[in-house]
Amino acid sequence: MPVEEVTLTARFKVDLTDVDESVISGIYRLFEEYKGIVNELLGLAVDKHITSFVELCHAKYHELRQRYPALPSKYIVTACRHAASIYKSFMKLKRLGMCEKDKPTFRGRAIWLHGQVFRLDVEGWRASIAIHGGRWITLRLLHGEYHERFRGMEHGEAQLALRNDGLYLNVAFSRTVALPEISPDARVIAVDVNENIIAYGNNDFVERFETNEGIIRTRYFLKRRRIQTKIRSRELRGRLLAKYGRREQNRIREIYYKAVKEIIGRAKETGATVIVVEDLEIHKEDMGSEELNGRMHRWSYRRFQRMLEYQAKLHGLNVVYVDPRNTSRICPVCNGELSQSRNGRRLMRCRRCGLEEDRDMIAVKNLTRRYYEECANAKISQTSL
Ligand SMILES: [Zn+2]
Repeated sequence: MPVEEVTLTARFKVDLTDVDESVISGIYRLFEEYKGIVNELLGLAVDKHITSFVELCHAKYHELRQRYPALPSKYIVTACRHAASIYKSFMKLKRLGMCEKDKPTFRGRAIWLHGQVFRLDVEGWRASIAIHGGRWITLRLLHGEYHERFRGMEHGEAQLALRNDGLYLNVAFSRTVALPEISPDARVIAVDVNENIIAYGNNDFVERFETNEGIIRTRYFLKRRRIQTKIRSRELRGRLLAKYGRREQNRIREIYYKAVKEIIGRAKETGATVIVVEDLEIHKEDMGSEELNGRMHRWSYRRFQRMLEYQAKLHGLNVVYVDPRNTSRICPVCNGELSQSRNGRRLMRCRRCGLEEDRDMIAVKNLTRRYYEECANAKISQTSL
């Protein structure tokens, strides 16, 4: 049985009651300096268009070391990674037309913790963090039933985060999961993502989950446009755009989450062990004509797929990516070309064999078929988390 590492993030609230004043000021200084460093690195990244963390480190590490001698050096290393990552996501949003700002800024609400400046004691629910001058501080972590599952798990990277209601520690834990074999005997569920519907099933059934994502996106798009034309103040406009942007993301994430849950539930019910999804790296011809629109959709589908892959693996299901080309255009029975049927908007008809079927059913059947074909040709591609 193949095994794979799946990462889970745990969030702990830090217990700041009766904490020494010097600890609070130590944390405060850490946040302030880290924020300054990341913003300085961001400035350089923008000026010289540096997206590589190694290059940023190369350019700035020694100078920053000298200017912040009391700060443990690993903070400078993670600040470089953090800045490179902020700059990269900024560029991405910019390309997608989702950001109006000229350059990214870091608000300083989070510190990435390198493994060498952070220790976690899950048994005692405590974390120690290295601060200025090589001093270590210990923080008590509030914990509940939810946190019990992390006992005995391997922990990786962590992040100290400042939120309106307090200080948090986010820790990535990894768990090894055993996944079922990808074989020609496996029962599968294929998932086809469209603008407003996620269809899933196999040769026996098809289910539709209405996401209405396209409708929601259009509504938010119009809202954003109204804000852009009506609001004069640049600051207020930026704030409103960010607020609605977040709201849109959250809304869609919630819908995706429900769809994922439903698909996994159905897989368990029907004894399917493999989820088949489209490999979006391979360009699908009917993904949306307009360029930006197409890119936006691919980006959004990719997010859905990652969520599905992650949850599926946690539930012991395997995930396989197949070539999506022509899956909505050819007949699943005879490979003939399909065209729109006159008998209904969602119906497709095969010119060669006369098959008439719903387009979601066709996509799901074709993806299922492709899984078995690719299994036979040993062409299966798996991207791991
Ligand atoms: Zn046919």
